[in-house]
Amino acid sequence: MGRSLSLAASDVQIGGEVSRNSTLVCAPIVSDSVDEMLIQMGKAEELGADLVELRLDFLNNFNPPHHLQTLIKHCPLPTLVTYRPTWEGGRYNGDESQRQAALRLAVELRSEFVDVELKVAHEFLNSIGEKKPENVKIIVSSHNYENTPSVEELGNLVARIQASGCDVVKIATTALDIVDNARIFQVLAQSQVSMIGIAMGEKGLMSRILSAKFGGFLTFGSVESGAESAPGQPTVKDLLELYNFRNIGADTKVHGVIGNPIGHSKSPHIYNPAFKSVGFNGIYLPLLVDSVSNFLNAYSSPDFVGYSYTIPHKVDGLRCCDEVDPVAKAIGAISCMIKKPDGKLMGYNVDYVGAITAIEEGLRELNGWSGRSGSPLAGKLFVVMGAGGAGKALAYGAKEKGARVVVANRNYEKARELARNVGGDAVRLSDLKDFHPEEAMILANTTSVGMKPNIHLTPIPKEALKHYSLVFDAIYTPKLTRLLRESQETGAAIVYGTEMFINQAFVQFQNFTGLPAPKQFIRDLLERNT
Ligand code: NAP
Repeated sequence: MGRSLSLAASDVQIGGEVSRNSTLVCAPIVSDSVDEMLIQMGKAEELGADLVELRLDFLNNFNPPHHLQTLIKHCPLPTLVTYRPTWEGGRYNGDESQRQAALRLAVELRSEFVDVELKVAHEFLNSIGEKKPENVKIIVSSHNYENTPSVEELGNLVARIQASGCDVVKIATTALDIVDNARIFQVLAQSQVSMIGIAMGEKGLMSRILSAKFGGFLTFGSVESGAESAPGQPTVKDLLELYNFRNIGADTKVHGVIGNPIGHSKSPHIYNPAFKSVGFNGIYLPLLVDSVSNFLNAYSSPDFVGYSYTIPHKVDGLRCCDEVDPVAKAIGAISCMIKKPDGKLMGYNVDYVGAITAIEEGLRELNGWSGRSGSPLAGKLFVVMGAGGAGKALAYGAKEKGARVVVANRNYEKARELARNVGGDAVRLSDLKDFHPEEAMILANTTSVGMKPNIHLTPIPKEALKHYSLVFDAIYTPKLTRLLRESQETGAAIVYGTEMFINQAFVQFQNFTGLPAPKQFIRDLLERNT
């Protein structure tokens, strides 16, 4: 792309690529040697970053006159020079005048951007005076590693930074809750100056991605996982490929999966490419949510439109709906929420459709049921392990199909309540190993026991599996759980959680986009991602 970048917000031709936003992708280079930095710069260019941030404070044996010239001259991309001191969260703890001298040298060497901290911005800018070349832009930054202040305080901070005479304002705060990003978005959207606004930490991920939607000047993406310069930074590859960063515009509709934890979720890997494949202007994020109602209140704008729900928020999600479909109401949990054009939140439960269909197909194959009418589940003894959102969906679905339902749960009271609601029986999960009133029962695991990273765990001893003819596991990370592997070894037919996921993904895709799901495309994606 060469080394030129424009500051104009309307400039959306980035590196010959058409982008729906003007937000730049900056790759921080955090190597400890100049040689390694040169290699990482090349990688950043290959990955499609727009510029690199040279983190001089990560270098060992840094010799500014010699090394800065080499780094700036040989960088294939525009550079942002940062020499972060320890008092602002960086690694440099030497003499302040030498640090500022190195930054002045970066200005003289015409690094496209030079970052200086608010605390010393006045002094630094005075020291450059009229000597600053027109094409060198000064970013004045402020970092808060403790929290994200109120919109008013952030607004005051922007004004103070702006008053320093900088070209670009940078504010990085820490997200203690996902709702903190909303304040960053508000300040970014209102800013009259070029501004970088980022909330650091795992709960700040959306601020880095949606920076493009709210007009951020740039966002940071690491060259590779493990080479982040700040907590919560995605990789350049994820920004550009997984989140289709260049396709995010001010009118892009925001979707996501609400859960806690959420890092394991495959959903962003399915919905983002699927949206792109049909030209739908939407993004799908992992949303690490502590309180569903706080989240929905913070993101009440019409552009935040659709969510999947996973552990532990399916029941809370239902409580936050304005309207709930009858199936979700009967189950007592939602798996999907859509904001209707009038702003009302509509909840659905599409979990059981996928799971029950896949189990029925498995039974038909097992028993040669094809061609016969009615559900092969009718009259079967169906044991559901777990009484959370997925457990309720499976118990309700099996009952609908005429099965006799038994609920086994660690929390016995919850098992009893669910069993009562579906007209079935309850046992303690720990007693399930001794429960075998008959042979050829069906077993469905809806507990999270055995899910990544705890793949060595299983909710029921292998010995007890011989009483079941078919075993289903709702867990889909990993695809072959210990429970499914041991069931197979015991001779039972198995049904993967991926089938449940795929079937409900088709329905959710349609709910989110109003378009038919690209079924084969989604199947192939899931196959590649499990
Ligand atoms: P949830 O509402 O939070 O329920 C979790 C269930 O797991 C509860 O019954 C809980 O028992 C049980 N549990 C958790 N830790 C346990 C432990 N250490 N020992 C025994 N039981 C334990 O979650 P959910 O939404 O139902 O999801 C449950 C699982 O289904 C997750 O693995 C999720 O990924 C999977 N799922 C898959 C799909 C799919 O498409 N394949 C869809 C939805 C869910 P207590 O009541 O005793 O706490």
